[in-house]
Amino acid sequence: MKHTFFVVIIALLTACTATQESSFSTEPQSVVQSDYDTFFTPHRLRIDLVFAGNSKYQKVFLASLAKEDNWSGSRTNMVDTFEYGEYYMKVKSKEGQTIYSRGFNTLFQEWRCTPEANINEQSYCSSYVIPYPKDTIQLCIYERVKQTGKYNELYNATINPNDKLISSEKCNNFNVEALMHNGDCKDKVDLLFIAEGYTKEQMDKFRADAQRMTDYMFSMHPYSKHKEDFNIWIVESLSAEEGTDIPHMDVWKNTVADSHFYTFYSDRYLTAPNHTTICKIASNAPYDALYVLVNDATYGGGGIYNFYGLSSSDNKWAEPVFIHEFGHSFAGLGDEYFDSSTSYDETFYNLNIEPWEPNITTLVNFESKWKDMLNPEVQIPTPDSDEPQLLGVYEGGGYMAKGVYRPVMDCRMKTNTAPGFCPVCSRAIERMIEFYTK
Ligand SMILES: [Zn+2]
Repeated sequence: MKHTFFVVIIALLTACTATQESSFSTEPQSVVQSDYDTFFTPHRLRIDLVFAGNSKYQKVFLASLAKEDNWSGSRTNMVDTFEYGEYYMKVKSKEGQTIYSRGFNTLFQEWRCTPEANINEQSYCSSYVIPYPKDTIQLCIYERVKQTGKYNELYNATINPNDKLISSEKCNNFNVEALMHNGDCKDKVDLLFIAEGYTKEQMDKFRADAQRMTDYMFSMHPYSKHKEDFNIWIVESLSAEEGTDIPHMDVWKNTVADSHFYTFYSDRYLTAPNHTTICKIASNAPYDALYVLVNDATYGGGGIYNFYGLSSSDNKWAEPVFIHEFGHSFAGLGDEYFDSSTSYDETFYNLNIEPWEPNITTLVNFESKWKDMLNPEVQIPTPDSDEPQLLGVYEGGGYMAKGVYRPVMDCRMKTNTAPGFCPVCSRAIERMIEFYTK
């Protein structure tokens, strides 16, 4: 089974350019972590943004702010150490110190790279939660420039946490429960499953579906080693109708997260375009990572880094697709496939720079990837092997047959039938787990 739903989007994505000023380097740097209690209260702040523009330019607007329940993320690793993603958010204190940061991707960035974005302008809603600041902050959002791989500033706003217009109203009364609870949220990866397309009578099915994904996840290395590092939560978000929209088959359903297939006219690309809607559904729940489980049997899904993972629950590939999409959304992993039906002649990644995804390389800066894991006798690039998970540097990956390299012949980030995650993906996943738990 091939994953085809990302291909058009990401192929076009790389064609996008950005021309802002005020950049910062993505070279590894020493990170100074901020003290949580100095800068933040126990609550969290939801920042609702609108990303708008077309293929040539983009702008970010602040839509609204909301005060939510307790911050459930790390209180130690406030500043991001990965610098993954097409966007980057920095929260600065009045004195200019970076006190919180995260990289992320958006569905809007993918849309910007479709042919439609050459003709029309559109806007997409995205929301992010940060620890609730005690004092005025500067919120800076950066976009990654394709030509250089560096981040340039896109947006800058001052936020006063004492502003009386910051909403404290409850968005919903959906039941939130732990499927698996191993300890305090600040020391765990809190994965929240959101029910999409499940009616009130189908909540037992949702619970069973989320449990099935959870069981699959912890049967697979490296998650199997880290079960104790996770809390698994569910939010029983009710839909009026079951299933999801399948526009090219004229199927339309009234569901809580407004998900649909045929995203950007691609049959298998299942998304929920309004990210703010998803975050409002999650507003009463703890989470580090969001996963939207869609009550449908049609094959498909999507995973966007630090945004959400989303896939259908009821086809024979549902579990491998779930863990693959979660690899994108949680650990920032890239796709390792490139087969003929999905490869493009055009340059998919800029071959002159190292891609940010940890599990693919252009060999421009291979030292920053898995060179340290390789046996020194292994040839670079490595000739194709009959052993699916013999570590090397195999040509083909990131939708490109040439110029992009992957760590093994077959990995869960390449096919649904691979034995599991390769050692490089496993290390990237473990590093992300450690970031949330240490
Ligand atoms: Zn891999």
